[in-house]
Amino acid sequence: MKVKEDDEILVRDPNYVKYERLLLQAEAEGRIDGKYSCLVCGMHYREKAAAEACCRAAL
Ligand SMILES: [Zn+2]
Repeated sequence: MKVKEDDEILVRDPNYVKYERLLLQAEAEGRIDGKYSCLVCGMHYREKAAAEACCRAAL
């Protein structure tokens, strides 16, 4: 039935939106294409100080 197909799409949408939001948030925080990356774990940061402080506690 057509109605069932629509239901599946409606169920799948929130997850997609949630993923998109997480991606945008990560990008906004510079975790995806930040200029500076942690030399230890490779996590990206927009600010050099943040990248240097990332794994400093573990060193
Ligand atoms: Zn790190």
